[in-house]
Amino acid sequence: MAKQLDYHTIREIFTRFQEAEAEPKGELDHVNAYTLVVAVALSAQATDVGVNRATKDLFKIADTPQKMLNLGEEALIEHIKTIGLYRNKAKNVMKMAKILVEYYCGEVPNSRAALESLPGVGRKTANVVLNMWWHYPAQAVDTHIFRFGNRSGVCPGKDVVAVERAIEDHIPVDFQQHAHHWMILHGRYTCVARKPKCAACLIRDLCMFEDKNL
Ligand code: SF4
Repeated sequence: MAKQLDYHTIREIFTRFQEAEAEPKGELDHVNAYTLVVAVALSAQATDVGVNRATKDLFKIADTPQKMLNLGEEALIEHIKTIGLYRNKAKNVMKMAKILVEYYCGEVPNSRAALESLPGVGRKTANVVLNMWWHYPAQAVDTHIFRFGNRSGVCPGKDVVAVERAIEDHIPVDFQQHAHHWMILHGRYTCVARKPKCAACLIRDLCMFEDKNL
């Protein structure tokens, strides 16, 4: 695990990320808060591209919890059966829809605790939804952020909770909102798992990773 980078280096890293992409966006398609929660829940152990392919037609007919209930579990399965763990995910989506209709008037709640109480929604999903829909600086740590944070020294930690805390503690507040997407996209396309593209990396002179692929 890398040591924690200092304030000025982290500020320079995010200044460069911001100059390269001022408004980084997530890659999961959605049309409202509800479809975002469903898309994020479906994306566990699946790619965003695969989820988008499955939800393209689904969200045209089931973009609210009530419409999802009307659709029913078997029809939902037909839409998402190309996604890993689809049976379990379908069950959770239906249970979630029932709870949203019965307890939240069909609306998606926007506290972390309320989101996490929904079937199939863990801390990571809750944080993605808080960040992407409500623009709250919540930090969802996925495999890309975990890898990048530890290699670079931006937000090292032995587990996802420690990395989440390191992000909140060390990334300057003016970068907190977009930090999630800058790091995911950097991890997904540049600081990739097997052979990181260090030679083309815009922060290679600041990153602490000892085995750079130059
Ligand atoms: S220099 Fe290499 S290891 Fe460091 S952030 Fe860039 S791609 Fe990742």
